Amino acid sequence: MYRKILSILTRNLIGFGNRTRHTCEGIIQCLSLSMIIIASGLCISLLFFPGAKVKWATGHANSENPFYAQNLEHLCCTDVNDKPWEYIVIHHSATAKGNAARFDHYHREKRKWEHGLAYHFVIGNGSFSGDGEIEVGNRWKRQIHGAHTANIDCNRVAIGICLVGDFENADIPTENQIESLVRLIQYLSRKYSIDSSNILQHKQVHQKCTACPGKNFPFAEVKTRLLQIASKRNNLIQEL
Ligand SMILES: [Zn+2]
Repeated sequence: MYRKILSILTRNLIGFGNRTRHTCEGIIQCLSLSMIIIASGLCISLLFFPGAKVKWATGHANSENPFYAQNLEHLCCTDVNDKPWEYIVIHHSATAKGNAARFDHYHREKRKWEHGLAYHFVIGNGSFSGDGEIEVGNRWKRQIHGAHTANIDCNRVAIGICLVGDFENADIPTENQIESLVRLIQYLSRKYSIDSSNILQHKQVHQKCTACPGKNFPFAEVKTRLLQIASKRNNLIQEL
């Protein structure tokens, strides 16, 4: 639209310039005038359409999730050698609010777990951490087993990811949480060659003991998004 306005203005103003005695001077004056008009138009549109400002500033489809830009390579780097992780188990916190520090405190003080936070990662819902923010636990940094399932053998080889929220009784995960979860699973499963069939909900590990991550957790959608990303990547590789 702006290009159209620019071309119309320029044509008219050049015509006007041609009619003046000092043609070159007239054209320059007219062009300056048109640039001022266009710049004013842009400023006004940015004031009245702030959404456009975000789009232009980031140029990213997921610009509404500020944590989409979290650098997973940096976030997931560890203090020691990586363990050969084989599974990813998804949980909910079964609480409306929380973050990694609060769960860590609870697991240390109430459960008396020496290593604190049972999970390797926590994805916030905007209560005590950002909506979609991925927090990394002490167990991940040190590459030690989780305490997120009742099965010790499973905990030794399974990465535990917890989304803040009670998806059984009250909430559904936010779009930002799902986006961050999909990104994190995609990154970890590629890094450790974890098969899609080894990405599980907690209740699949202990079918009789828990409903975690709750009936409102959209597991099928998460798997679909992961498959879509994988197939896009395969297509890209084939094109190369
Ligand atoms: Zn769980």
